[in-house]
Amino acid sequence: MRKPVMAGNWKMYKTAAETTSFFEKFLPLVRDCSHCEIVICPVFVNLPAAVEAARGSNVRIGAQDLFWETEGAYTGEVSGPMIAAAGGSHVIVGHSERRQYFGETDESVLKKTRAALNAGLTPIVCVGETLEQRESGRTAGVLAAQFDKGIGPLSPEEFGRILIAYEPVWAIGTGRTASPEIAAEAHRVLREQARARFGEEAAENLRILYGGSVKPENVKGLMAQPQIDGALVGGACLKPESFASIVNF
Ligand code: PEP
Repeated sequence: MRKPVMAGNWKMYKTAAETTSFFEKFLPLVRDCSHCEIVICPVFVNLPAAVEAARGSNVRIGAQDLFWETEGAYTGEVSGPMIAAAGGSHVIVGHSERRQYFGETDESVLKKTRAALNAGLTPIVCVGETLEQRESGRTAGVLAAQFDKGIGPLSPEEFGRILIAYEPVWAIGTGRTASPEIAAEAHRVLREQARARFGEEAAENLRILYGGSVKPENVKGLMAQPQIDGALVGGACLKPESFASIVNF
């Protein structure tokens, strides 16, 4: 049985004070939750506030990106060991907004994923097709290529420690969710890639989260699909009640 992971990506929202007040309201709402792992990813500067607020709870804290070097003259960057030292346990890698606005590629995704693993973090590696790619019938090919270049070169041991998030770009922040069937089909394609490269057991153990306009109203239908092992949530994770109702699907 794959334990679901419900992860929240706060993107560039919330100050340290807002971070603390979120956790004050959120933690009591998910205190009894043991059916899934819960992860919240604030901006870098608020990692310490989030780690402090979540201490002793069932909520883990992650970053939204990292650089692949451990330290050095890389102005503005943050490394895996720094995230781990701040108390983070997870890190999102290759989010479509990073690919779209900051030149992230499958090659950088691979380097960052390895760097995260070397720092003992769990990378949440994002893949997904654009609307144009879906409408021209290229979804499976795009996912296979992203898997091949960004994930396939990992060792079996490394692969066993990652999470994948399938995030169709057309569904992120648009209010347009993939239907449970469309999402499940993409997850099946990704699991097939995993099976071909890493074998049956690794593919069966792989947890693939769905991301793209997940809300309290649609999470149940998505999570009813056996292929879907959790969610990566953007907009709907910013309010404690909303994210708690997603977590407690
Ligand atoms: C995301 O940021 O990963 C995401 C899926 O955003 P939203 O839920 O707002 O579509």
